[in-house]
Amino acid sequence: MPIVNQTSLAPSPQPPTPDLIIVGGGAAGAALGVQLARTGRKVVLCEARTFDKPKLADLKTGEVASPGAQRELARLGLPADNAVWRLDDFTALRQFWTPTRTTRHALPGGLRYWQLDRRLFDKALLDFAAQNGVDVCLGYKVTGVVRSEKDNAICGIRLSDVGGDCNPELFAPVIVDASGRNSPLIARLGMKQPETEFRRFAVVCFFSDVPNTIPGEWEQHFLGVGNTTLNGSRMSDGLYRFTLETDMVLREKFADLRRPLDIFLAILAHVRPVLAHRFRAATPLEYATAFAPVGYRVAPLILPGFLTVGDAAGYLDPATGQGIEFALRTARLAAAAIEAALARGSFTPADFVGYECGMNREVARLKRGLRLYLRATRQRWLLDTVGRVRPVRSLILRRMVKGD
Ligand SMILES: Cc1cc2nc3c(=O)[nH]c(=O)nc-3n(C[C@H](O)[C@H](O)[C@H](O)COP(=O)(O)OP(=O)(O)OC[C@H]3O[C@@H](n4cnc5c(N)ncnc54)[C@H](O)[C@@H]3O)c2cc1C
Repeated sequence: MPIVNQTSLAPSPQPPTPDLIIVGGGAAGAALGVQLARTGRKVVLCEARTFDKPKLADLKTGEVASPGAQRELARLGLPADNAVWRLDDFTALRQFWTPTRTTRHALPGGLRYWQLDRRLFDKALLDFAAQNGVDVCLGYKVTGVVRSEKDNAICGIRLSDVGGDCNPELFAPVIVDASGRNSPLIARLGMKQPETEFRRFAVVCFFSDVPNTIPGEWEQHFLGVGNTTLNGSRMSDGLYRFTLETDMVLREKFADLRRPLDIFLAILAHVRPVLAHRFRAATPLEYATAFAPVGYRVAPLILPGFLTVGDAAGYLDPATGQGIEFALRTARLAAAAIEAALARGSFTPADFVGYECGMNREVARLKRGLRLYLRATRQRWLLDTVGRVRPVRSLILRRMVKGD
């Protein structure tokens, strides 16, 4: 199979069997590749996208990088000052607790959230991975896993290239699924489970203008019906993102609507007509996207010779803007466990137990905090109280933003 190195864009000679194959080059896959290539491991990363033509759909869900994600990127060494993938920062939170109660807080400790051009961010991370020695194969879609005849363990992947003319198989002692929420592998391997507590629907709409938006401030509206929230801000001049989240029950009320923007406006008109009015006066871009259900669990996280990281290891909710942070944390934890397993030359689930322990120690703990937050936002009396008591708001904000 021709391995196309992102830096040279030239086919290299037939490579030796890699130590590791990574499926998917989003934040999790690229960060994992960097860390293992730096320890001298031979890493092949297969990414379905080619990044050739920018499209509106590259906006995907937005997004913001939390202070925790920024710390992970700094650890990785990705240059971020004046990076082309950085859009506006926001440094303050404006919260709308009831139709008449609004509060504003500067983020504690001078912290800020970075808004990202997700296409350029992913591309920069993949370039960085290639510079660190990862064989980045763009335009290769992984279609399935290959199992060993001896013990049925996963020992390789099946690929198809952009044109679909080439369907090679590639083998390695460790395969990592970093292919995100729509991973074909976790679904096929029966590892993807429903999220039972929170059945949420999210719709993300982009605009070139939204009246009454203050640059540098993040808006968070608690709308009181069906645990509906509206979040968003200006991402850069001429680009605004707003995400509406609600329980599936409310989405089902508007089951006849299909276009994400129509659903967004209909739910707003139902729960807070004044906001529907504001967004009817906004200028929508030709791209919007909806997710249902938003959350899912993945169990187990590990099979013999096979690990999941990032969204392929489960996703709860975008409420705190920490998806990239979780993806980068899982990559760091997995890199340490994989390096130890490669050094031992043994790849059973017990060899990767350090990954599961690390996940419980940091990622699962942060997700428990997110669960508590989602439960709390269902209680109108609690929202009302928090909206009134400044020290409580400051405490919650500090915990959420610092993320430690
Ligand atoms: C509505 C919504 C809003 C969000 N907002 C934010 C936010 O503001 N901030 C934040 O931090 N997070 C946010 N997130 C979460 C964030 O998008 C994810 O958690 C994060 O992108 C996960 O990174 P990842 O590397 O695991 O997966 P991804 O970024 O999804 O990367 C997966 C990669 O795998 C590739 N791929 C997929 N299938 C294959 C295949 N078969 N073969 C080869 N390659 C493949 C894809 O092309 C992609 O490049 C949001 C999520 C939702 C649903």
